[in-house]
Amino acid sequence: MNNCFNTDLNIDINIINYVNKISKEIIKVTTNLEEIEEYNQLKVLDAFRSFHLSSSDFSWTTGYGHGDFGREKLEKIYAKIFKAKDALVRQEITCGTHAISVALQGMLLPGDEFIYITGKPYDTLLKVIGLEGDEKGTLLDYGIKYKEVPLKNNEINIEEVLSKINKKTKLLAIQRSPGYSSRSCLSINSIEYAINKIKEKFPNILIMVDNCYCEFVEKKEPLEVGADIVVGSLLKNLGAGITLNGGYVVSNSTEIIEQIANRLTSPGLGKHIGVSFGTTRAIVQGLYFAPHIVSQAVKSAKLFSLCFENLGYKVIPKYNENKSDIIQVITLKTQEKVIDFCRAIQQCCCVDSHVIPYPWDMPGYTDKIIMASGSFIDGSSIELSSDGPLREPYNVYYQGSLSFYQAKIALMNVLNSFVKKGYIDINFFR
Ligand SMILES: *Cc1c(COP(=O)(O)O)cnc(C)c1O
Repeated sequence: MNNCFNTDLNIDINIINYVNKISKEIIKVTTNLEEIEEYNQLKVLDAFRSFHLSSSDFSWTTGYGHGDFGREKLEKIYAKIFKAKDALVRQEITCGTHAISVALQGMLLPGDEFIYITGKPYDTLLKVIGLEGDEKGTLLDYGIKYKEVPLKNNEINIEEVLSKINKKTKLLAIQRSPGYSSRSCLSINSIEYAINKIKEKFPNILIMVDNCYCEFVEKKEPLEVGADIVVGSLLKNLGAGITLNGGYVVSNSTEIIEQIANRLTSPGLGKHIGVSFGTTRAIVQGLYFAPHIVSQAVKSAKLFSLCFENLGYKVIPKYNENKSDIIQVITLKTQEKVIDFCRAIQQCCCVDSHVIPYPWDMPGYTDKIIMASGSFIDGSSIELSSDGPLREPYNVYYQGSLSFYQAKIALMNVLNSFVKKGYIDINFFR
């Protein structure tokens, strides 16, 4: 924050000076982000040009949505950006969990087995699979078999994966971002290495990548390094705080997309129907802004990382390590700190800055979750947000910010609140 600008947040001048100082260090280590942003921006514009994106693509259809040219073009644009043969990008895929769920249900039949090769999957998927809760209609209910292989030193344990594959194993799932665990994200290079090793031995096995929070953080996306199916949420990176909702599935095979589309609508209808309800413009515009917004979010995460590392907390990843997603994990060690962190973030959100977040039983999750997210798009975590399950080791997950400057003021507010609570001595900043 500029020293002469005074906000009603009453931030201590020592904190302002300190965050201004470490912001300069962040700018030094983030020059490569501009190159990645530029590369991905051109990728997006090329796809718009290739398919002659037109203003008429943003109009409505009704009924079955036959001949919804905007929807068809949008899916071609996504396919080109992800180097895919085909794509499903829709408002009727309600979120990332739904995209992953429908992809697994589309690809797996009773008796088939699948293995999560990055350990325990994201919290909401435990219910999709049937590992937690008493939901009906889970994958296990349908006679699909499930195994998991934990990571070893934060990498896919290839030997163990190879030894677990048998005749029934149809699909391997890779989750790149940590979810609510204490690890760093898997880079494109590390999944490329693992996929090559696995496909050398088992060329026909399908590899699905949960790409949530990773889109446009690097130059390559997972299909370019041998994955078969990539899924994600439009409420995160690709939505850029503009897209109203949705999820996507892209694949190197049109048959795979057809199979998944048959699950989403019904066999025979597949991806040929579905009214977009006028959402195409917002999805396309989100895609346009995504490379820039992702770059702002990565820079913001690095600022939080450096600051909390300096304060002596464990942070994953460190500010000067390469990032593959937008998440910053900070181990705060106590429930109170996780709650106070999120409350201070909420005060700096665009919407609902006056609201005090409380931990709650969020649908799909088993532990109570506290979530700071006062966003233009409800729950959109590419916008300034932080959250965490109230369980050991009491990590807070910071992500997003449409603007680096908003992240800066949010960090100042968190530090101010931590000083007021007595968690940090103000002398640290002097
Ligand atoms: C957020 C997330 C999901 C679920 O996406 P939603 O849009 O919240 O349903 C799945 N996997 C990972 C790794 C995530 O971070």
